[in-house]
Amino acid sequence: MSHEIRTPMNVVLGMSEMLLETDLTPEQRHFTRTMHHSGKALLGVINDILDFSRLEAGRITLAEAPFSPDQVLEETVHLMQVAAEEKGVLLHSERASDLPKTILGDDGRVRQVLINLLGNAIKFTHHGQVKITLAPHPSEPDTLLFQVIDTGIGIDQEQIEHIFERFTQADAGITRRYGGTGLGLAISRCLVELMGGRIWVESRLGQGSTFCFTLPMRCVEAPDPQLKPDDRITEIPSRSLRILLAEDQTLNQMLFQGFVKKTPHQLIMVNDGLEAVARVQEEPFDVVVMDIQMPRMDGYTATCRIRQWEQETQRSPVPIIALSAHTSAEELQRSQEAGCDAFLSKPISKQTLLQTLQQIASQPPVVTHPKKPSILLVEDTEENQILIDAYLKQTPCRLVIAHDGIEALARIREEVFDVVIMDVQMPRMDGYTATRLIRQWERETKRAPMPIVALTAHAIDGEIQRSQEAGCDLYLTKPINKKKLLEVLQQLTDQTQPTSEVIVP
Ligand code: ADP
Repeated sequence: MSHEIRTPMNVVLGMSEMLLETDLTPEQRHFTRTMHHSGKALLGVINDILDFSRLEAGRITLAEAPFSPDQVLEETVHLMQVAAEEKGVLLHSERASDLPKTILGDDGRVRQVLINLLGNAIKFTHHGQVKITLAPHPSEPDTLLFQVIDTGIGIDQEQIEHIFERFTQADAGITRRYGGTGLGLAISRCLVELMGGRIWVESRLGQGSTFCFTLPMRCVEAPDPQLKPDDRITEIPSRSLRILLAEDQTLNQMLFQGFVKKTPHQLIMVNDGLEAVARVQEEPFDVVVMDIQMPRMDGYTATCRIRQWEQETQRSPVPIIALSAHTSAEELQRSQEAGCDAFLSKPISKQTLLQTLQQIASQPPVVTHPKKPSILLVEDTEENQILIDAYLKQTPCRLVIAHDGIEALARIREEVFDVVIMDVQMPRMDGYTATRLIRQWERETKRAPMPIVALTAHAIDGEIQRSQEAGCDLYLTKPINKKKLLEVLQQLTDQTQPTSEVIVP
């Protein structure tokens, strides 16, 4: 049953996710998102029911393999971060320093219990935080103690005894308000007991809950010398980075301080985008970590301002990491368009943050384009317009079309383009004349010359010479070759390259 039900559900979810990455109208996006969310909820219910029926029938056998409890915890927290951030809840973990590196057991089932407890904690918490702790049990030898502590709605004392029973929720309004089946805790209890542990909860209505469970700590030597995440982190070739963190939430600022405490990096914090821009202009940083949602000035605007200032003052761009609550394709695109180099979803784990910083520390700064290169295509033939538009589809370029030289002159008076592609033969005004007039206007108005690429029908000497004399920088011959076009555009829009006196053979 499981395969037959899960496979089509996964297809529905996968396809709707891909659909969300395409161009959709706001209404279509809303429908697809709703479909995706409902599909996910349905898959959750199906998984719970299938799991519980297998547990009841005694059909679940546990795996017995060495695993790192610390790593399971870290990965689970990472998995749940987006959900926590969407709720505006701070999710973090605390691990004792004397944990065994490796224990024997079923890591998949431990993960399942953790996901269920963290999922509930996030679901039933509207303000504050969810914390997960892992430590050896203070009084029971050879036992691990996991605790999921939240500042959420809490549970009525009368209901507390029943919530581990199947299909039981604290009150009838829960399904309506929060969804769920009332199976998660029943499954968790079965699994924890099957693994030889206990599970219980301490809670008061309105005062948060603490779900605890124990596991027998059967330590083994790790057969595989694979490193734990923290070991990898301390391996950093320790170039000290000066990090500017622009973040308005005090809790997140504290979390960052904790993350970089034992590293060689230096952290400087500001509270909004406006302060970030001012600080970057005052002193050099190796990296800026920029929260997107901030008061006074948001992260996108601040990043654009920084990139603009860097261009104007001819400074090399500082790597900027965007921090956002949403991992949608639009957010990612917006952050790239603003000029960010990397994108992390909040709240990030220590491992992800330090690994990203490590990457930056080991790389020369990346030169990025703060905005989409804009291309003016001056071309009368519709087929060529369609073709060039198709060629540029997968590039960040924005294409604007003018149908002849007269229209081109009007457009360049309205907007500065990164590149002009100029067909030479056109009705009303040809490309040579238009280029000459553009160059004349640029001289008269003391503007920097825009790179102009001539589109000629034949690669005959006369045409090349005429286009050069008119003021074109490069030429391309028809039929236009995609590879060549993209090479030329890359060459012209890369601000580290000279943009004139280059002739493509
Ligand atoms: P579900 O969450 O699908 O309803 P569970 O078995 O996981 O089912 O939880 C049973 C019930 O226990 C929930 O409906 C809720 O009433 C209560 N509960 C579980 N976790 C929490 C929590 N962290 N805070 C408050 N109530 C909780």
